[in-house]
Amino acid sequence: MDEFELIRRFFDLSYESWGVKVGIGDDGAVLTPTPGMELVNVVDTLVDGVHFPIGTDAGDIAYRAVAVNLSDIAAMGAIPRWMTLALSLPSSDESWLTSFSSGLFEAAADYDVALVGGDTTRADQIVVTVAVSGEVQAGRALLRSGAQPGDKIFVTGTVGDAAGALHLNASNQVDAELMRRFLRPQARVQFGRNLVGIASAAIDVSDGLWSDLEKILDASGVGAQINLEDIPVSTTLRARFPESQVRDFALRGGDDYELCFTVPPGAEPDTSDVRMTAIGTVQDTPGLIAKLNGDVVPYSGSGYCHFT
Ligand code: ADP
Ligand code: MG
Repeated sequence: MDEFELIRRFFDLSYESWGVKVGIGDDGAVLTPTPGMELVNVVDTLVDGVHFPIGTDAGDIAYRAVAVNLSDIAAMGAIPRWMTLALSLPSSDESWLTSFSSGLFEAAADYDVALVGGDTTRADQIVVTVAVSGEVQAGRALLRSGAQPGDKIFVTGTVGDAAGALHLNASNQVDAELMRRFLRPQARVQFGRNLVGIASAAIDVSDGLWSDLEKILDASGVGAQINLEDIPVSTTLRARFPESQVRDFALRGGDDYELCFTVPPGAEPDTSDVRMTAIGTVQDTPGLIAKLNGDVVPYSGSGYCHFT
């Protein structure tokens, strides 16, 4: 199967999609943005053995590759529209491609995003790069830089599950529920859109709650205090690990793709669909301070970093 047949069979699936004048098949996609909207572009690369364990199901790899991008779109308060896929593979294994393609289009359907192009190459390792374009009303994108002293800090859902899953995986143990959080992250797209005009700053938790919150603080030129006992963790994670390890996964573990955001006093996010938890307060004094039951505790919560 050559490259062109591969694209035709697995990726050039005709389906209705809005704003696509020319999709897969020409040198470039021609897209029609909605008048009055600004484009938000994000891209993420997943490398076999680095971003997912070697041997991960192809459908899960594809779903995750789309979802991690949509999480960035969510953190910007944008509506996802179009995506491209750059795929490097050691071989054109049909059953792998069938599963990959179905995971990809499952995510595309879940989030209403259209595949409009890509690139297919042979390489020694599986490398999947997805880029997504979204739209947000002009001037209204959620940024990292708007947090103000006095704002409350929130996080959606629970954090730490994905890190717990990977920890178990490293010792050949499996917890299917935790692993699902890693393999099939649910991007908070609708919730992010609802935060537009309400949150003062937002980020998605990809590298770890502590270090991702620090990015908001740095960008905003402020500090914060968080209460460790308030950080939301799942009952599954609690059941599997001792308290201190749960806390470490929750603060330092990445890959949960929840949203962390700040809200000025008086503003109220709509919480009807998604759980959100207040975990602390923004303050003038720079730096991030952890408190446990009212006492300041030392914590160096560096998150995941590719280059140290
Ligand atoms: P070019 O040589 O002009 O870069 P290609 O021959 O690589 O174009 O690709 C042909 C068409 O197929 C283009 O429209 C491209 O966007 C699309 N395409 C290539 N690989 C993929 C893929 N993995 N998924 C979706 N579309 C793809
Ligand atoms: Mg070309």
